[in-house]
Amino acid sequence: MESDRQYLFQNYGDRLPVCFTGGDGSFLYDQDGRRYIDFFAGIAVSTLGHAHPGFVKRLQAQLERPIHSSNWFYNREQAAAGKLVGELSFPGKTLFVNSGTEANEAALKLARAHGQSISPDRYEIISFEGSFHGRTFGGMSATAQEKIRRGFGPLVPGFTYLPFNDLSAAGREIERNGRVCAVITELIQGEGGIRITDRDFIKKLSAMCAKRNILVIIDEVQTGVGRTGRAFAYQHFGIRPDIITLAKGLGGGVPVGAMHARNELSPLFGRGVHGTTFGGNHLACAAVEYILKELKKPSLSKNVSIVSDFIFERLRVMKAKYPLINEVRGMGLHIGIELSVPGMDIVKKALLSGLIINCTAEKVIRIMPPLTISMKTAREGMNILETILASEATA
Ligand SMILES: *Cc1c(COP(=O)(O)O)cnc(C)c1O
Repeated sequence: MESDRQYLFQNYGDRLPVCFTGGDGSFLYDQDGRRYIDFFAGIAVSTLGHAHPGFVKRLQAQLERPIHSSNWFYNREQAAAGKLVGELSFPGKTLFVNSGTEANEAALKLARAHGQSISPDRYEIISFEGSFHGRTFGGMSATAQEKIRRGFGPLVPGFTYLPFNDLSAAGREIERNGRVCAVITELIQGEGGIRITDRDFIKKLSAMCAKRNILVIIDEVQTGVGRTGRAFAYQHFGIRPDIITLAKGLGGGVPVGAMHARNELSPLFGRGVHGTTFGGNHLACAAVEYILKELKKPSLSKNVSIVSDFIFERLRVMKAKYPLINEVRGMGLHIGIELSVPGMDIVKKALLSGLIINCTAEKVIRIMPPLTISMKTAREGMNILETILASEATA
């Protein structure tokens, strides 16, 4: 902890006072050997939990081959990973990057290239209040939350922020503003507090966009890769996005992101137009290939659905018992519990009781365990959470 303060930027504020040195499935262990149930998965990243035997073996094998050679050369793992992204989503082309914000940068650039191919003034991009799209200049400029952007101006021009789930506001803007080339949105706002898009809103908005040649970019950085019970969240909403962006769960902990777009858009990123040194290296794509192959097996989504039903049912009962629970929202294993009080205290108490949860948007407890979590572990975790909420309720 001392070295952290001495040698590292303190941009993460006070970290929680635990250092994990071991892991196994949905359990993490600290340096004293204390066990924690992982209901957080490192912000929805550890798709298969920790030290998954098959995943470890695949990564170990890759370490003995090149882990990196650069995009000057063909790359088997990258092509195999791209094929799987398309099979699980829609026919198109994939570009691998290293993070969520970079996936969005690629999507925003592709959207601008699309706009410019129609007319020089088609460059505006619409995003929605409460969204989060990353911390680089493009991602931050797309993020309609003042607290993320404050102090870094001037930002990238050409972004318009609209109220979330407000179809008439979006309709008016698209009608009035001929400069729009794309809309970017999350279907479940993750950092914004697990707020779900109305099905009707996104369906009608997508139809309006299709008519006007406006691209629909779905930011699936948090919701993608099985998190909501399907491969990608958009598959619950009856829409056909033009672009999806992925990261968090995509590499199961190995840093990797991707942008996947319809085939028609791929000529816009011709030779030399965009790129990244690390993007899609052999190690990252070996990870993606392994994760997406697991995702193709029905057993993983079946587990998500069983555990999700159990957690939502427990939360329904808890909500009736404890008035400090305002609302329970989410899909699959992407679950938010909105409290009437700040959630950080509960996060700290849970940690002391051996349960890792998270709090976002001040009052929303987030539950997003590895997709492989067993019913037994999920039940154990929910028991801990209930004990804490019960003592909070009587306090
Ligand atoms: C986390 C997140 C990002 C940013 O991803 P990084 O890998 O942190 O750059 C972008 N969009 C959404 C929806 C996210 O949840």
